[in-house]
Amino acid sequence: MFCPHDVILGRQQAHGCVDTLHGPREGDMTADAADDAWHALSASLEDSAPLCNGLELFTADRLPDEDRDWCASICGRCPVALACDAYASTAKVTAGFWAGHFYTSKGKT
Ligand code: SF4
Repeated sequence: MFCPHDVILGRQQAHGCVDTLHGPREGDMTADAADDAWHALSASLEDSAPLCNGLELFTADRLPDEDRDWCASICGRCPVALACDAYASTAKVTAGFWAGHFYTSKGKT
């Protein structure tokens, strides 16, 4: 199942900065946890489509408060929200809107 966040993952890989997506370094226990969380999210996406599929706001670089509220309302009904939140939190993602929160290199809001 395609996840719109693949756009972010692909963009960061293309820029050679995927390390900043997975905050911890390879070999770090937290990196292993992030990989486990990614596999859990991927498994969830095989059974259920993410409600943000095709919605560009979820991968926007900037998001006004009203758009964040709208995105959060979508996440509140998403069948993969728990796995999405677990991945974003564990991997310390640095971009995009994940499970009710907007992430940047400074953290989540
Ligand atoms: S919880 Fe939100 S960001 Fe995560 S897959 Fe669902 S709709 Fe997308």
